Amino acid sequence: MKKMILASLLLASSLFATLKIDTTYATLGAVTQEIGGDLVEVHVLGSSKYDPHFIVPKPSLLSKLRRADLLIINGGGLEVGWLPPLIRSANNRKIQPGAKGFLDMSHFINMINKPTSVSRAFGDIHAQGNPHYVTDPHQVLVMAKVIAKKLAQIDPSHAQSYQHNLEKFLKKWNAYLKEFDAKMSQCSTKKVVQYHELYNYFLKRYGIVSVGNIEPLPGIAPSSKHTLALIGTVKENGVKKILQDVYHDKKAAEFIAAKTGAKVVVVPHDVGSVKAADTLEDFYNTIAKSICK
Ligand SMILES: [Zn+2]
Repeated sequence: MKKMILASLLLASSLFATLKIDTTYATLGAVTQEIGGDLVEVHVLGSSKYDPHFIVPKPSLLSKLRRADLLIINGGGLEVGWLPPLIRSANNRKIQPGAKGFLDMSHFINMINKPTSVSRAFGDIHAQGNPHYVTDPHQVLVMAKVIAKKLAQIDPSHAQSYQHNLEKFLKKWNAYLKEFDAKMSQCSTKKVVQYHELYNYFLKRYGIVSVGNIEPLPGIAPSSKHTLALIGTVKENGVKKILQDVYHDKKAAEFIAAKTGAKVVVVPHDVGSVKAADTLEDFYNTIAKSICK
């Protein structure tokens, strides 16, 4: 009898145990929550208010990594400056690179802006190409499918639930994209400049050209020579919008704006970067609004 009670308790606890999932990026966390529902507990390691290339490796992140069943990273070199030592220190076999509980989403994305030659000595933090694919709302479809497959793999007893959640979500997201793309086809902005190349995937998707960056190279602060040249480019191209993220200094963008008449707009790079972008839909709606309005 005791054995039976114990067995049923164990069964019950396995049925109701939630998977502990860490992700480095809030957008990936939001998609994971959609697919995992009540079966997962998602923790985002990097705050969407800060530079995703340089998250401060606090001890609280280590304790999250120690108890995780699954770690989902953006990849493409985005976390290379802060995550590898944390994973090693966490010493959690489940989430080491190559283990079943480690998922690098960039492996499923067609990365753009792959450099032909790169030296990190010159500070290029996009050595593997542009890692900011989450700004394209169509990539959400890829993320959702990959996450659903991974959840079913590490938690096969709930595979049906994950599949059901995926189907429901894809239906919702495809309807959202249809409406979103229709709105974007009316976008009058055709040329922009950016501080950091955060929005290239979005811009490429909707045929908007980025004619220059305030950073001379990804991760390198603007110089006066580069800024003056960019002012010329902005004027020549009739650029009306300067895309500024929430975490870089705005001074250079404001200086260029004052010299050219272009407008500085703050654009979220992740779910939760700005108040108006706290859901997946509102994240993309806010990007569109800031670029097109
Ligand atoms: Zn970057």
